[in-house]
Amino acid sequence: MARQIVLFGGTFDPVHHGHLIVARCVAELCLFDRITFLPAASPPHKARAAASADHRLRMLQLAVEGDEMFDVCDVELRREGPSYTFDTIEAIRAVEGPDVDIRLVIGADMLEDLPNWREASKLVDAAGWVIAARPPWDSRMDEIIAHCRDRLSPAQAKRLGESVLVTPLLEISSTDIRRRTGRGLSTRYLVPEAVRRYIEEHGLYASSAGETDD
Ligand code: ATP
Ligand code: MG
Repeated sequence: MARQIVLFGGTFDPVHHGHLIVARCVAELCLFDRITFLPAASPPHKARAAASADHRLRMLQLAVEGDEMFDVCDVELRREGPSYTFDTIEAIRAVEGPDVDIRLVIGADMLEDLPNWREASKLVDAAGWVIAARPPWDSRMDEIIAHCRDRLSPAQAKRLGESVLVTPLLEISSTDIRRRTGRGLSTRYLVPEAVRRYIEEHGLYASSAGETDD
């Protein structure tokens, strides 16, 4: 049977319990043995990450420590330039062979952005997709799928629509965690305790108090 690789990409600036709970729920619902967190070096859709690649990687490693279902892959951090998922998939296929079964996990907000990704149409066909519910985007799913239909193709939009999973709705975001940290508010229970301590010890996000939403 072809090897299966399930990738959960993102900036993880920092990783939080929304990511972890959703990933575990996806693994259980889809019967995946493993989910690989894939931190992006320089996310193409964002200005830039607040914490360095090293810090974001370290926090992810702390977050998944002890969970045999999760691991972290640093290929995008080791590659120069913006992290395009299409390039990552091509690199994985070059190593693993054409039959490798690649699945991509994204939150509903990323589905809205997907038509803008590099080689979006080819990318949609090149992998399996799992789309996790995320508030407040979950209430606009019909509109987001219609947007995919306009920008991609009806067949691709249908496939993406069928890939939406009912996962817990957790209104946790890294933006909020950075902001809270910058304002001196607690992030307890939003991030794993080891991540909270790491942020504190390294003085991360101290100047993120006034950060606005994307
Ligand atoms: P930021 O606020 O900096 O954008 P974020 O919380 O959105 O951070 P990302 O690293 O951008 O985290 O997201 C990585 C992936 O996780 C994306 O596919 C995103 O949709 C998904 N995701 C993040 N938080 C949640 C959540 N609470 N529920 C479901 N999916 C989520
Ligand atoms: Mg995000």
